[in-house]
Amino acid sequence: MQNQLFIDGRFVPAINGGQIDVLCPADGSLITRIAAAEAEDIDLAVTAAQRAFPAWAALPAAERGRLLLRLADAIEANAEELAQLESLDTGHPIRDSRNLDVPRTAACFRYFGGMADKIEGAVIPVDAGFLNYVQRKPIGVIGQIVPWNFPLMFTSWKMGPALAAGNTVVIKPSEITPLSTLRIAELMHEVGFPAGVVNVVPGYGHTAGQRLAEHPDVGKIAFTGSTATGRRIVEASQGNLKRVQLELGGKGANIVFDDADLNAAINGAAWAIFHNQGQACIAGSRLILHERIADDFLGRFVELARSIRLGNPLDPDTEMGPLTSALHRDRVLSYVEVAKEQGGRILTGGKAPSDPALAGGYYVEPTVVEARPGDRVAQEEVFGPFVTVLRFSTDEEALAIANGTAYGLGSGLWTRDLQRAHRMAERIQAGMCWINCYKRVSPGSPFGGVGQSGYGREMGFEAIHDYTEARSVWVNVDAQIPPHFKR
Ligand code: NAD
Repeated sequence: MQNQLFIDGRFVPAINGGQIDVLCPADGSLITRIAAAEAEDIDLAVTAAQRAFPAWAALPAAERGRLLLRLADAIEANAEELAQLESLDTGHPIRDSRNLDVPRTAACFRYFGGMADKIEGAVIPVDAGFLNYVQRKPIGVIGQIVPWNFPLMFTSWKMGPALAAGNTVVIKPSEITPLSTLRIAELMHEVGFPAGVVNVVPGYGHTAGQRLAEHPDVGKIAFTGSTATGRRIVEASQGNLKRVQLELGGKGANIVFDDADLNAAINGAAWAIFHNQGQACIAGSRLILHERIADDFLGRFVELARSIRLGNPLDPDTEMGPLTSALHRDRVLSYVEVAKEQGGRILTGGKAPSDPALAGGYYVEPTVVEARPGDRVAQEEVFGPFVTVLRFSTDEEALAIANGTAYGLGSGLWTRDLQRAHRMAERIQAGMCWINCYKRVSPGSPFGGVGQSGYGREMGFEAIHDYTEARSVWVNVDAQIPPHFKR
């Protein structure tokens, strides 16, 4: 298991010798100690990425693509090992790491591998006699800072488009879950990525992350994490006015109308909030129910929540694992008190499971809380297996509740009325809207938020757009330009 920094094509210790304990969330045991990057290590990584940039950008695009395709193959060839590593480090149930995280990571690298030589410019109709063409140019060194909830998948969301477009990368995984990113670095080295093109520097946010965000030679920071840290990133980026892309928190509205297929909606709503223990920015954490079906829905939904199998993430029968850190578990449980103080009703969960086999891990029972739209648990991101139920009686009311937070990332609608579905999708303020499904993602479909959920988009051509600069070239083909000044 790799536990050093990956800088300029080599695994190296941190200059100051700092280390961070990586703990297993299922029992709190020590998995390994990793090198902790600090400012000096970040500087080395940025210098390596800067040195590697001209040759990488000049490489035929198909060659860059070929390396990304090879990486996708290597991920598939090492799928089981990567799935186990991700589950061990994050607590993702192994069935999800096998069926979702690993295949999605490979698919995303493959998608951008295929796209590398299809990044086209444009010819713009301008004044007669002139040719104007626009090229998409790489930005340079990209700093990427990611959280702990989907570390493996985020390597591909972040690095795939950046590398395809010809940039070089310094990526800082979360100090809590660095292991799969370091393994990806190893695979990249094996398949032939040149030294310095990708550098992986795990470390704390306030040291390593801060230096990367403020570094004068970094052309862009792509950040995924909390809205509070996003603000700090913007401040730190000001020195050289680097570009910033922010994928921040969410408070996903999942609306169930009275004409919905209730079986599908109940299952979909449970998946929306309980997948990955609710630690997802797009989680359907506000369940907004039409009053006519609310009691029936809730009776069956609570029954389903109680039946979810909590267990060791490496057990293939486990449906929900532990939260990723003890600190985060405590934060999630603190929201149960917040809900109670404001008169919220805990319909199920709200505590750690009583099963002694789970006592050493950071588990929280699936929790369903009924509250009011203005309550803190209906406004603030809990980021756990904690869903806040709200009721409505008209479409307008549903929309007002859905749009009544500062966030705007994921959202869902469950109805058999297609006209209503499109009407609502049009007016819901969110980067993504799922109709009769939830949490669908694809490498081709833009992903990102509005409002306090951030700006910029991952995936698809949108991501390539965000990782390139437009260069406009004007050619005088046969225009007669009269003199501007009389002699
Ligand atoms: P976080 O903001 O605490 O940390 C995210 C990353 O930022 C980590 O690598 C951390 O080390 C680093 N960091 C912390 N302080 C920093 C600083 N001052 N300067 C630079 N870097 C710093 O978030 P988290 O708790 O790790 O992750 C959970 C959050 O991420 C939730 O709010 C969730 O909604 C959000 N998230 C958003 C998306 C999205 O695509 N919109 C996806 C996943 C998670």
